[in-house]
Amino acid sequence: MEVIIIGGGLIGLSIAFELIERGVKITIIEKDKIGKGASWAAGGMLAPQSEGLDGEFLNFCLESRNLYGDFIKRIEEKTLKETGYWKCGILKLAFSKEEAQKIKQDVERFKRLGLPALWLDRKALEKEYKNLGDEVIGGALYKEDSQVDNRKLCNALANYVKQNAKVLENTKVLKIDDKNGKFNKLITDKGEFKADLCVLSAGAWSGEILDIPVFPLKGEMLALDIQKDEIDKVLYSSKSYLIPRRDFHRLVVGATQENVGFKGGNTAYGTLKLLKGSINTLKNLAYKNIQELWFGYRPSTPDELPLLGNSGIENLVLATGHHRNGILLAPITAEVPHPNLTKVIYSPHTLR
Ligand SMILES: Cc1cc2nc3c(=O)[nH]c(=O)nc-3n(C[C@H](O)[C@H](O)[C@H](O)COP(=O)(O)OP(=O)(O)OC[C@H]3O[C@@H](n4cnc5c(N)ncnc54)[C@H](O)[C@@H]3O)c2cc1C
Repeated sequence: MEVIIIGGGLIGLSIAFELIERGVKITIIEKDKIGKGASWAAGGMLAPQSEGLDGEFLNFCLESRNLYGDFIKRIEEKTLKETGYWKCGILKLAFSKEEAQKIKQDVERFKRLGLPALWLDRKALEKEYKNLGDEVIGGALYKEDSQVDNRKLCNALANYVKQNAKVLENTKVLKIDDKNGKFNKLITDKGEFKADLCVLSAGAWSGEILDIPVFPLKGEMLALDIQKDEIDKVLYSSKSYLIPRRDFHRLVVGATQENVGFKGGNTAYGTLKLLKGSINTLKNLAYKNIQELWFGYRPSTPDELPLLGNSGIENLVLATGHHRNGILLAPITAEVPHPNLTKVIYSPHTLR
């Protein structure tokens, strides 16, 4: 069995990892470098509760969060690389009465589902955070929400895949060719490629390759210099999210969300918004140095649900459209094309 994967972001790399482990021959075709794309730009939060998800999609995301520990263990063992996976918990802060009411409702809903969730009022938060912004009313502690250093994870997987699969970088897929409703070959700017099965995991660009409703949703990010161990949890709110990296002088601050196509760059407005959001959360962040600015494109869909499984073309599997949760959903997505590679395990329809 030979599988060709379009796109070497975290989704393509995770699928490659799982299939290589099962003895499948893999080729990854990537228009730039593998291990980059949105997967490199992301915050790395594993946050189904903080994101306020519900219904069947919540269950799907919780299942992936539960898979993370084992997924990381296997990757770290195989690659001998550390990925910054950290069950640090996420504190979701409220900046208004309306936000507090909504978060308290979520806390009750999660408790009914048996998930750990705890509302903390401002007084309780002040005990832990001396520099809490004046407008913070309180927040919910979701201790099972966590984070991974997505860049380290991508690097680990990219190294592994380069050693165990054929990787064609700087090779752009122009067209997927099918014959009688069955995957036939890929046409790229460097020639044509055949395989038994093809996985489309080209992130925000997937809609350029196949007629599927995937589009880019730009997100700007920045990082601040902090003391090692200065902040011990992710602080998430409608204004920004602050992600301290473990054992690292780095606070990742995200993210804007704009539907501006593939327009690049960090804007004054986006940077201002992120800085204001972080200072309104913790006042002392005003005096931290800016370490880095960057941006990326979430692969979004109209209903914000991923497209996983059957493409309508036999032997062409979709693994795209992960919107805001592709880092979280990597382990469960990587299970999609196996054990029976053509079976649909999850499709957009089963998720609706
Ligand atoms: C600012 C930001 C913050 C985010 N924060 C989080 C978070 O905290 N938690 C979370 O779970 N998710 C987060 N996300 C979402 C997450 O990053 C994405 O859902 C996930 O990375 C998608 O992975 P992917 O592999 O599908 O896409 P990508 O990582 O974008 O990879 C797609 C790859 O396909 C390649 N490609 C595209 N077209 C072609 C072609 N024609 N031929 C060959 N190769 C091609 C691209 O070059 C790219 O390398 C965030 C996203 C952004 C932008």
